[in-house]
Amino acid sequence: MNDVVIIGGGPAGLMAGIFAARSGAKVLILERMREPLRKLKITGKGRCNLTNTADLRAFLAEIGPQPNFLKPAFHRFFNNDTVAFFQEIGVPTVVERGGRVFPESNSAVEVANALMARAVKSGVSFRCDSRIHRLLQEDGRVTAVELTTHEIIQGKAFLLATGGASYPATGSSGDGYALARSLGHRVTPIRPALVAVETAGDSAGNLQGLSLVNVQANVWIEGRKAGEAFGELLFTHFGLSGPIILTLSRRYNEALQEGKEVVLSIDLKPALEDPKLDLRLRRDLDENGKMKLANLFKQWLPSKLIPEFLRLLELDGNKMAHQVSAEERKKIRRLMKDFRFQVTALRPFSEAIITSGGLSLEQIQPKTLASKLYPNLFFAGEVLDLDANTGGFNLQIAFSTGVLAGEHAAQLVQAQV
Ligand SMILES: Cc1cc2nc3c(=O)[nH]c(=O)nc-3n(C[C@H](O)[C@H](O)[C@H](O)COP(=O)(O)OP(=O)(O)OC[C@H]3O[C@@H](n4cnc5c(N)ncnc54)[C@H](O)[C@@H]3O)c2cc1C
Repeated sequence: MNDVVIIGGGPAGLMAGIFAARSGAKVLILERMREPLRKLKITGKGRCNLTNTADLRAFLAEIGPQPNFLKPAFHRFFNNDTVAFFQEIGVPTVVERGGRVFPESNSAVEVANALMARAVKSGVSFRCDSRIHRLLQEDGRVTAVELTTHEIIQGKAFLLATGGASYPATGSSGDGYALARSLGHRVTPIRPALVAVETAGDSAGNLQGLSLVNVQANVWIEGRKAGEAFGELLFTHFGLSGPIILTLSRRYNEALQEGKEVVLSIDLKPALEDPKLDLRLRRDLDENGKMKLANLFKQWLPSKLIPEFLRLLELDGNKMAHQVSAEERKKIRRLMKDFRFQVTALRPFSEAIITSGGLSLEQIQPKTLASKLYPNLFFAGEVLDLDANTGGFNLQIAFSTGVLAGEHAAQLVQAQV
């Protein structure tokens, strides 16, 4: 009989398998897709941002909703361990801007291949095309799993690493929530996170394809500022996307689901305070009095933005700069500092980098990642109610929880011998 049966062959499942096997357990990983690690292979735009060099405090600040739950997992296996582990399995890494750690080869496929090779070398067995749809229990212990084919596989300890509900084409379609719920585990509502947004009005669509760098996006929920991010964003046919929009989505996805008003305000000139920007506009208008407004705008904004700005400001681009009134100048300045988009919806799970919400942490032991309801059931990875910003934080959660849960599942089995 298998000692540890792991449901889900993602990064959390593989790390759990490798470390459980290292601790002497006979491990079987059940994966519903034809091959494991489908999602890992597309991470970081194919480059796989493995982890982040941030120190523990800064690292925890990137994670929600209960980062302290992860302290024992990070204590056991943190970012430096990830770098050392991948070095050991033949994947040297490099550190890039913002402490982001990537494989030197820039290849997520190489990362996946190395992980698979190490799992096999450690003695982990795999069964692919094996989707679990039921956990069987008896007298407060999980005894077996049932495949959709009704085949039953027994084990001594079980580890649920089925991932979240985002990018379901990779295999993670949220099965783990139903499996855990069937045993009495609570699941906090799940939402797409690190995801683009749909916005009201025509502006985003009119600007589709335009990417802006060095801008600041501010989030307003019901008129209250709820966050800001500086960097790059992208206009699309449906609304807004790009790194800062994805990052901020974790701040407002809950509010949006609750029907609250969410507004994203883009500051196109974050380096210039209002008075300084006004001075600059005044100077340019004075010095170029005979220039057409549409041409003068080129000194202030990317060309693609200009027709949309003129439309929103109801200004004629053929107007001479010296004809612009103080009131019009004020309107121009306002729009540059506060280009508003009402958020109407998040894009769907199929486009979300991660899932927020998930298995309630209240019913899980942080030191072992064992269920408080079934002592031989363990959890790891995105299925948990934990999620983080982009930057390598989410994979580190998967690795750390995988290691901790895998080792404790193996220990439990050995203690029973
Ligand atoms: C496009 C994209 C890019 C990303 N880039 C990064 C990045 O660069 N850095 C970073 O830190 N994070 C990144 N992430 C997030 C990261 O991929 C996830 O946080 C991570 O994969 C979670 O690992 P996991 O093992 O918990 O789940 P998953 O990787 O989702 O693996 C779960 C596995 O379980 C299997 N499974 C599900 N249900 C069943 C079932 N019923 N029976 C059997 N098997 C089942 C699935 O097929 C899947 O193989 C990215 C995500 C996406 C979508």
